[in-house]
Amino acid sequence: MAAPDLNFVEFSQRNPCADCPAPCCQLQLIPHRRPTTFMDTDFLHYMLLFPHTEVVVTLTDNWSIVKWEDCRAFEASKHMCKLHNTPAKPRTCSTYNPYNCWYKRSFVLNDSREVYRLDLERFEVWVNEIQFAEDGKSISMPNFERSLDIVKGMPIAPHIGLLSGNASASDPRLPAANQQSENNNRRQMPIGGKESF
Ligand code: SF4
Ligand code: SF4
Repeated sequence: MAAPDLNFVEFSQRNPCADCPAPCCQLQLIPHRRPTTFMDTDFLHYMLLFPHTEVVVTLTDNWSIVKWEDCRAFEASKHMCKLHNTPAKPRTCSTYNPYNCWYKRSFVLNDSREVYRLDLERFEVWVNEIQFAEDGKSISMPNFERSLDIVKGMPIAPHIGLLSGNASASDPRLPAANQQSENNNRRQMPIGGKESF
């Protein structure tokens, strides 16, 4: 069922993270240069041989390595940050803007057309469409749309969905809400130089 429309006040009081399983606390996004040579491409292959690793490419051609691992401060059973509302919470997290969150759009909502994700299995198919010159420079690479087509239908894990029953929880930054419930501890977003793309 589609979420109900909200007016301004309702929207402003809603916690934008309320129904989100917080991929932002479960992965590290490490910016990486676009591969332009055989050895650049080989390095991505090497990285993907390690578990819980992905290459993520955005519509705007930003390349990153993703390592799926929970932050030490993440309370996975509650999808909460143990450091929320404390001075120990990194400013990288406390200053991140969760509205229209790139992490949520890319890793939680289904069928994102803003990124493509390559794990080892996807990479081994995708990489066959790169052509290299004699000197090792790549002379053609599948573009964004073609890359989406290549990986379409190839499942990738983790594939995490929205939490049920939380969508209307109030914003824990509000004084009234701060006196309530477990939403007090909900993370207010992360990521290392956290990216919004
Ligand atoms: S908000 Fe930041 S510190 Fe808290 S669990 Fe998430 S990544 Fe870790
Ligand atoms: S900041 Fe984290 S918890 Fe909030 S919506 Fe984005 S991914 Fe989800």
